[in-house]
Amino acid sequence: MPYKRLMNIIQTLFNPPKRQPLSPAITTRHLIKLPPPIQLPAKQIPRAQHSVSRKNISKNAVKVLYQLHQSGYQAFLVGGGIRDLLLGLKPKDFDVATNASPEQVRQVFRNCRLIGRRFLLAHVHFGQEIIEVATFRKQHDESGDGVIENGCIIRDNVYGTIDEDACRRDFTINALYYDISNFSLLDYADGMADLQAKIIRLIGNPVERYQEDPVRMLRAVRLAAKLGFEIEPETAKAIHQFNHLLENTHAARLYEEVLKMFLGGYAYPSFVKLREFGLFKRLFPQTEACLDDPIALALVEQALKNTDERVAADKSVTPAFLLAALLWFPILRLIPEYRDKGLSEQDCLVSAIDKVIDRQIQRISIPRRVTILSHEIWLLQPRLTRPKTKRSLRIMTHQRFRAGYDFLYLRAQAGENVADSAQWWTQVQTMDEAQREQFFDTVPSHRSNRNNRRRKKKKPPTTPV
Ligand code: ATP
Ligand code: MG
Repeated sequence: MPYKRLMNIIQTLFNPPKRQPLSPAITTRHLIKLPPPIQLPAKQIPRAQHSVSRKNISKNAVKVLYQLHQSGYQAFLVGGGIRDLLLGLKPKDFDVATNASPEQVRQVFRNCRLIGRRFLLAHVHFGQEIIEVATFRKQHDESGDGVIENGCIIRDNVYGTIDEDACRRDFTINALYYDISNFSLLDYADGMADLQAKIIRLIGNPVERYQEDPVRMLRAVRLAAKLGFEIEPETAKAIHQFNHLLENTHAARLYEEVLKMFLGGYAYPSFVKLREFGLFKRLFPQTEACLDDPIALALVEQALKNTDERVAADKSVTPAFLLAALLWFPILRLIPEYRDKGLSEQDCLVSAIDKVIDRQIQRISIPRRVTILSHEIWLLQPRLTRPKTKRSLRIMTHQRFRAGYDFLYLRAQAGENVADSAQWWTQVQTMDEAQREQFFDTVPSHRSNRNNRRRKKKKPPTTPV
């Protein structure tokens, strides 16, 4: 290779030419693979005719919108943020859509990270708050970069224009764009009319849209439960027909969606709708099989209602506790199989737990840190229900005692035969040291209990799990 060319290459490697931010027009042309078929004409709603005010948008989201706009890009607030503001609700998060590519977004913001496999997204960090910035994408077509398997979108990084971006969004009420350049709203799919009529309606053909991404079925149910909206008949009918598609959906995405549904403050109404649409059995088949038992149903319902109450009161909620409630009856139902094999009660419980978890994570990939915690809650149950002595109090120092006790209490509430134990533990927790001493003066002594315990070991257990 001639010396001059070699030097040129080295120079380019060490001093790459600085990339200028592209003007919106150039950017769009670069990003589009095919001429954009504009399917949805946008209605523009000027500022005076809608209720979205910058005052109600997170300061950081406004900052992101302005900075993108000032760097020559289009910048819109879209999705749940706008939808919820129009409904007078407090948005959970604010999503920004732009014609800047993720790489260009990163050049605009120092505090920015690119994330995602299925879609490449930019996360702009402001302390605790993250503003998600997504580049306009278009509906996948065979000529694009998207990857489709069996009609289902696997990878979806096909950039497009705002018109195309609107077409690939899920529901009409999620395709409203707030334009920071003039504070108007762009309504691509008559979303305003559906917001007013309280309707969840898929954009496009429901069958195709669910085949592309079955998670949209869960999103329809979640939104209907959260907003108290009706699912439009065609959008609803296709869920009944295609809920089986969830069985082949990526287990990690299902976990994310289940978390949003069950820890977002509307777990109970979501559960009712999931069952109504035949979706719950696709997510938790082992649980569904137990819900013919009114106590099992009451346990799950009560756990979900309690979770909603805690979220409303701004208290912490843990997926492990909910999981403990969802899988408790499948575990109880499996225990007799292991008893028949002659295992000890403890081993029966552990084996049933392992089996039920194994089956569940094939459907929804629940992280191990969560299942370990549920495991601890379950293993505490026999220890909390066995005959009580002063020694039983030692369990109160167990790291998970509170969760184990709460779960026992929930079981009692649901109608399991553990009310006496739950009451006992409630009572001893309210006592101080002296009161406990006095309380145990009336029950058998430490020593004789230990003997009892030894003798009991040889007998078959009589206490419920
Ligand atoms: P939430 O209040 O839970 O945040 P959201 O509608 O904003 O509700 P996000 O998951 O934040 O939900 O998604 C933001 C937007 O991205 C949605 O409003 C929708 O326009 C679009 N979107 C999200 N998931 C999908 C999907 N699976 N298919 C099509 N569009 C989607
Ligand atoms: Mg959102």
